[in-house]
Amino acid sequence: MGFWQKLFGSKEKPYVDETGIYFYARCDHCGTIVRVRANRQSNLSRNNGGFVWHKTIVDNRCFRRMQAVVHFDGRYAITSTELSGGVFVTEEEYKAQRGEA
Ligand SMILES: [Zn+2]
Repeated sequence: MGFWQKLFGSKEKPYVDETGIYFYARCDHCGTIVRVRANRQSNLSRNNGGFVWHKTIVDNRCFRRMQAVVHFDGRYAITSTELSGGVFVTEEEYKAQRGEA
């Protein structure tokens, strides 16, 4: 593999993040959307046959805290979400805010 290919990465084998679950949280106060990654193997706690994820999310504009609680079933499918201080949005909205859409 040549230098430039190393630098920019090969497009033939995209990296697949199999342990990460991504969430996009928009701050109620300033509207900034923050991407957060939950690691299935280390961030989730067992709960009633499924899993629960607790996370404090802070955006980089107003630095207010958002408290996320997400419940999953035993197959890591999301069964409920709560976010105090913000709202979960889609990846598309996140990219649009960053000008990537
Ligand atoms: Zn904010």
